[in-house]
Formats: sequence, structure tokens, C-alpha cells
Amino acid sequence: ASQSQQPRCQVEGCGVDLSGGKTYYCRHKVCLEHSKAPLVVVAGIEQRFCQQCSRFHQLPEFDQGKRSCRRRLAGHNERRRKPPPGPMSTRYGRLAASFNGKKVPHVTYHRMHTFAV
Ligand SMILES: [Zn+2]
Ligand SMILES: [Zn+2]
Repeated sequence: ASQSQQPRCQVEGCGVDLSGGKTYYCRHKVCLEHSKAPLVVVAGIEQRFCQQCSRFHQLPEFDQGKRSCRRRLAGHNERRRKPPPGPMSTRYGRLAASFNGKKVPHVTYHRMHTFAV
């Protein structure tokens, strides 16, 4: 019975025996070729292997030609992106910015001072 537990590529029509391959492909049940294929069929669904998540996603999760899903890429970009220079740099905008920063807004400071006295 243990022979049926051999790791095989889960892509339909492949079924390559992975037991002699690298642990990575063995664990994720995908062969080297299909981990890089733009489109494979797994469980009857067209999917692509995500190199970030190390698993298959359906195609709408990817930007065209990408091997990492959109969610992961978006996470990367967000960390790198700076806050956009607002087209409306009004007084209100600056006030909100000072709230987010470490500076104590002038209004709050004044009120605290008043309470202390
Ligand atoms: Zn395969
Ligand atoms: Zn992914």
C-alpha cells in the first residue's frame, strides 16, 4: 500500500514520480516543469503554480505572465510605496498628517496645558 503514497506531480496528464526529486517539488506535488508552466490543469481546473505561496491558484489570481499571485505582489508594493503627494494639500490634510505623526497637535497640547493649570 505504501507504494501508492509516492509523491507525483498533481498536474493532470503528468503524474511524474517525484520521489527521487528535490524535497520542494516532492512536498508541493509538482514537477519542475509544471511549477514554471503558465497554465496547467489540476483537479479539472486551469491553474498556475504560485512561486510565492508554493501552491496552485486559479488564473484570475495572477497578472498576465506573472508567476506570483497578485495578492503577494500587492503586499510587496504596498510596503515599498510612499504616501502619494495629495492633490489637495489643504490645511485639513496637514492636520491629519500631524495626527498620524509623532508631533502632538497644537490644539491638544493647548488643552492639556489648560487642564494642568
Ligand atoms: Zn508535472
Ligand atoms: Zn500566491
